[in-house]
Amino acid sequence: MKASQFTISTLKEKPSDAEIASHQLLVQGGFIKKLASGIYSWMPLGLRVLRKIEQIVREEMDRSGAQELLMPVTQPSELWKESGRWQMYDEGLLLKFKDRHDRDFCFGPTHEEVITDIARNELRSHKQLPVNYYQIQTKFRDETRPRFGVLRAREFIMKDAYSFHADLESLQSTFDQMYTTYQRILTRMRLDFRAVEADSGSIGGSASTEFHVLAESGEDLIAFSSDGEYAANIELAEAITPAREDEPEKPIERIDTPNQKTIQSVVDHLSIDIKKTVKTLVVKGHQTPIVVLVLRGDHTLNALKAEKLEAVASPLTFADESEIKTVIGCGPGSIGPVGLNCPVIVDRAASVVSNFVCGANQDGVHWINVNWGRDVIESPIADLRNIESGDPAPTGAGFIEIKRGIEVGHIFQLGNKYSASMKASVLDAEGKALTMVMGCYGIGVSRLVGAAIEQNNDERGIIWPDTIAPFQVILIPINAHKSPAVQEAAEQLYQELNDDGFEVLIDDRHQMRPGAKFADAELIGIPHRIVIGDRALANTEVEYTCRSSGETTLWPISQVPELLRSALDL
Ligand code: ATP
Ligand code: MG
Repeated sequence: MKASQFTISTLKEKPSDAEIASHQLLVQGGFIKKLASGIYSWMPLGLRVLRKIEQIVREEMDRSGAQELLMPVTQPSELWKESGRWQMYDEGLLLKFKDRHDRDFCFGPTHEEVITDIARNELRSHKQLPVNYYQIQTKFRDETRPRFGVLRAREFIMKDAYSFHADLESLQSTFDQMYTTYQRILTRMRLDFRAVEADSGSIGGSASTEFHVLAESGEDLIAFSSDGEYAANIELAEAITPAREDEPEKPIERIDTPNQKTIQSVVDHLSIDIKKTVKTLVVKGHQTPIVVLVLRGDHTLNALKAEKLEAVASPLTFADESEIKTVIGCGPGSIGPVGLNCPVIVDRAASVVSNFVCGANQDGVHWINVNWGRDVIESPIADLRNIESGDPAPTGAGFIEIKRGIEVGHIFQLGNKYSASMKASVLDAEGKALTMVMGCYGIGVSRLVGAAIEQNNDERGIIWPDTIAPFQVILIPINAHKSPAVQEAAEQLYQELNDDGFEVLIDDRHQMRPGAKFADAELIGIPHRIVIGDRALANTEVEYTCRSSGETTLWPISQVPELLRSALDL
């Protein structure tokens, strides 16, 4: 490709509204253009990267035996009503609209309903199973906070696959195969990733594994055990019950704490360890107006764990000040579990603290030396908090370390969630109807573009791994308009590399100074650069620079194809 005939629309400045490297560099490098919030066009340069990733995904899915199909983005409401998700799909994410006949439709955020409809019509006998269908296609989710460019977009490209089985054993085997397929995809992309245990969210089902690209900018927190055996999204990671404190009970006392409305201010005022306090969060109940959740003062609530509890309303909603005042009789800064007349659930770690400090359910008053059993009726205990670094691993071996990750893939065992509600069955060996079991497997193709940049960039721009770079090599002739020798050598090398099947960009833009071309090449992240200039050419050499190491060497011009071939990590 000749740069003079290819749209390279790099910007001098970083865009001011982009918070993280991948968003900045994709915009500054002219890979994407914003159309509306969370909605982007892929420019020719960006599309080349996207297509490379799609191709890796497609090759690995095909290798696994999955079959590619393509489903519509426009989906009729009837299917979503059958599965029960027309009202139930994650709050507001579903973009709904009507056609000219006033029929309800949505823009597909995921395709379980459509594929299950296909499968129930297409698959008749258990002998046709298992099957795994996949597509690479546009999704729309009306995200509350679209941000970070293509990492959390509203319109994005996903590879989604759905498998159908006669039994759970067969599902497990395809699930394992998809696990391996995802490992292969991310390895080919040269990304540093981890597979982690995950929550199943609104898609539903039982077992699920997420694939995370490790990056400081990641929105997810992942808990790893120091022995490497355990990795889970902290949404899910179980915090085990610590040993009960072995301390003689002290007499309970009421103390005045005027104006101390936060745990920290109480801790400072009394000069105590925050671990000797409990905090009380008031949320809406499932059957009662409120439910009180008690955590140790230094711990944070895990909303997903809380909303899974029978007594707690889902989605988790905090009670407002006036509701708290009505039921408990004080402001949110002075609540405590002593003498409460509403349902109380105590976190495992809070349940083993003795002689603790808590609010006295009266503004400006706290209790000290409170003990479970003696001063507070024992309440149900549950795992309510986020696991933290240094906690013992739930496996019992080693300690937890927390890292940030970008979720790029998610594989689920759905069981019969959709096949039961949508009546997708086949005939078994005895000719009886058998409800199929399903798995589903998503990978964020467009999110991967951003995730790859988060792991591969420096102050000058992107450093694409060779397997997903828009071009493998860039040729930069120096002052070709003044030097016929440079012009000719560059043209010849360009032809030769193209003929040998390399993906080459030649920067033949006449009006540009070499410095600006170098800057562009680094910004757009072409991994291998060859500079053709008079000085080296006098010795029949060219100057090769590797984008990732920054090292420059002289290559004999005749050996460029073979040296380049060995430099490429494909
Ligand atoms: P998240 O937790 O990040 O919102 P999700 O769990 O809702 O994602 P899935 O339903 O598991 O996402 O979708 C499969 C894959 O699609 C994700 O692993 C991710 O790579 C990609 N994806 C999901 N939402 C978006 C989005 N808003 N923008 C870009 N990619 C997305
Ligand atoms: Mg997910």
